[in-house]
Amino acid sequence: MKRAPLTAPALAALVAVVALGAVIALARDAAAGASKKELLLQGKEQARAARGAGAAERARLGAELRRRVGKKPPDVITIYNSWTHESVALDADGKQVAPPDLVNRFLRCHFTNHQMAMDAALFGVLVKAAKHFKVDRVEIVSGFRAPKYNLMLRKKGHRVARESEHTHGHAVDFRLPGVTTERLRNWARRLHLGGVGYYRDDAFVHVDTGKVRYWAE
Ligand SMILES: [Zn+2]
Repeated sequence: MKRAPLTAPALAALVAVVALGAVIALARDAAAGASKKELLLQGKEQARAARGAGAAERARLGAELRRRVGKKPPDVITIYNSWTHESVALDADGKQVAPPDLVNRFLRCHFTNHQMAMDAALFGVLVKAAKHFKVDRVEIVSGFRAPKYNLMLRKKGHRVARESEHTHGHAVDFRLPGVTTERLRNWARRLHLGGVGYYRDDAFVHVDTGKVRYWAE
């Protein structure tokens, strides 16, 4: 069958449709152009705002610095873990509480690297001790001990309890440089917090939050 040739009216209608399409496309381009321009303006506006915020922040820091100049910085107590060589610094006023996650990681078993939810009172004891003896450093000898490590110490002949409070995250062994172990032990006993062990030869005191009891090695 022969295709019917386009009649004049049909041709006109087709041209109109094509022309309309072109108009729509043009309008779309124009809209896109406008939004690009708007975005550019928005960007400039944001940059101006950021510059303003930067200036405000600089002014704030400048004022803070002027306030601090000539003032003594806050005293800090450094708690040092003699196994991992890690340190935690806390404001010496004792108001700052170390986050539990940090304490648990800091006092982890150095042998297995496992950590335990430590009794929060223990870190408080360390800061209290440093404040009492006016020292800025506490040395940790032992925090959490994984049961496996505790067992190994027992097998090696170390005098550690089978059910040591260390394996429950309830004990810490520590010393204060410049303070005799005896003085530290006497102070720790007066806390009536729990067990206190006196290790004269190794120069440390054990403090736990278990039953109140005393021993010496
Ligand atoms: Zn201990």
